[in-house]
Amino acid sequence: MSDTDLKNMKVAVVGGGVTGLAAAYHLVNNGVNVTIYESGETLGGQVRTIEVGGNQIEIFYHHLFRSDTVVIELIKKLGHGSDLAWLPSVAAMHSQTKIYPFVGALDLLRFTKVSLFSRLRLGLAALWLRYDSNWQKYEGTRASSWIKKWVGESGYRAVWRPVLRSKFGVHFEDISMAWFWGKIYLRFASRDGILAKEKLGYLKGSFRKYIDSLSEAIRKASGTVLTESTVEEIFTNRDKVTGLRYSQHGATSDAECDALLVTTPTHIFEKISPPAVLNSPYGDLLRTVQYQWASVLLLVLDRPLSDTYWLTMTDDDMPFVVTVEHTNFISANEYDGNHIVYFSNYADPDDALMELSVDEVLNIYKPYIQRINPKFDESWIRSKWFFTDRAGQPIVDYLFHERIPPHRTPVDGLYLANNTQIYPEDRGQNYSIRMGFRAADLILADLGKSEN
Ligand SMILES: Cc1cc2nc3c(=O)[nH]c(=O)nc-3n(C[C@H](O)[C@H](O)[C@H](O)COP(=O)(O)OP(=O)(O)OC[C@H]3O[C@@H](n4cnc5c(N)ncnc54)[C@H](O)[C@@H]3O)c2cc1C
Repeated sequence: MSDTDLKNMKVAVVGGGVTGLAAAYHLVNNGVNVTIYESGETLGGQVRTIEVGGNQIEIFYHHLFRSDTVVIELIKKLGHGSDLAWLPSVAAMHSQTKIYPFVGALDLLRFTKVSLFSRLRLGLAALWLRYDSNWQKYEGTRASSWIKKWVGESGYRAVWRPVLRSKFGVHFEDISMAWFWGKIYLRFASRDGILAKEKLGYLKGSFRKYIDSLSEAIRKASGTVLTESTVEEIFTNRDKVTGLRYSQHGATSDAECDALLVTTPTHIFEKISPPAVLNSPYGDLLRTVQYQWASVLLLVLDRPLSDTYWLTMTDDDMPFVVTVEHTNFISANEYDGNHIVYFSNYADPDDALMELSVDEVLNIYKPYIQRINPKFDESWIRSKWFFTDRAGQPIVDYLFHERIPPHRTPVDGLYLANNTQIYPEDRGQNYSIRMGFRAADLILADLGKSEN
């Protein structure tokens, strides 16, 4: 197909998060006519930001690992390389009222909550995973079983159980060992050496900078980016995609397209999908997807809460599972002296907490926040929000790999790319961008211009 023919091809992208933007960017760079439909007021999806102290900050905490090479390359390509800071991460474990530093291998040796023997087993198991690149052999195995076998019950309970719980809530016992492998392998790969302290990356001024640049680049290349535009229905004719219906400011419009990429969570894709998808084995796969809510209570304080950036809460009665004090990573000076703390939790779809107001959540969390700092008082709070996302975390259980839907659907020209297709790595901007590029390559190949 010639470049002129490709220009005449219309591709619709549903969702203006990182995946949709990356796919659209790749498509316009290959001469395709693209329109993004984003239901929110702003772009960025889970990476969208708010203003604090004259600067932007993500509604959900965000950082990068050195192994996140795709997003790092993209940030540089878009001209923001000099704003990408790599800073030491101050991580720790919280138990009862004590905070145990957990930054490097030496901290593990000092972690007196478990015996020296358990600490050695914890270290050896992590080393084993760091040098084992054959992750496929872990498929079908539960991380909890593997860890208990090789690390022992007490090491599991003190270290890895809280980490699994911090991501997957009540599902922590069923999580895939392949996912856990990815977590350890890639985390170590992002260090300069086994004993080196971890450095994490952050785009000063927020990740919104590269999101804005992506949308600018798409528009410059004659792409269209529509916000406050919710796709309600996908049209097909003889199992070939033909267009969509979307609503914008109360009005409904139809648009034609030759290909359509959906990057929304699966439950939204199911809502707008044509019967040819829903009434197929592919539709059966979609119905197996399970998500947890992600939620954060975000407090802006007039002083620090602790001196830790990433604090994993190990006590089962804690209503939140990680405390992320962003300004122990990026200086509070960047936010006009404000201190920014996220209290993160993941919850099942029917969890009543997700319906609560910010004040109600704060009321519940307050005595537990005081376990981190007994002096914490509401008078320290300058602003507060409670953010939730229904599709915050797919549950990557030990049979997850058998249920990953391909990007191509049974409908010709209709594609799906969302974080239920990221595996075995943990979901993140890096893998969303990689997936957006891959989905765009599939579309280009199917439209007649192979990128492979
Ligand atoms: C709590 C939390 C912490 C995280 N921390 C990190 C981190 O430290 N580092 C990191 O790299 N990643 C992190 N991530 C993950 C990262 O944010 C995601 O992997 C990535 O943003 C997902 O992008 P996406 O485009 O696939 O999905 P989304 O961001 O969910 O985008 C989907 C978009 O579709 C839109 N949409 C939905 N329905 C419709 C419709 N009908 N019509 C039109 N548009 C629609 C939504 O508004 C949304 O903008 C974190 C995520 C969470 C929840």
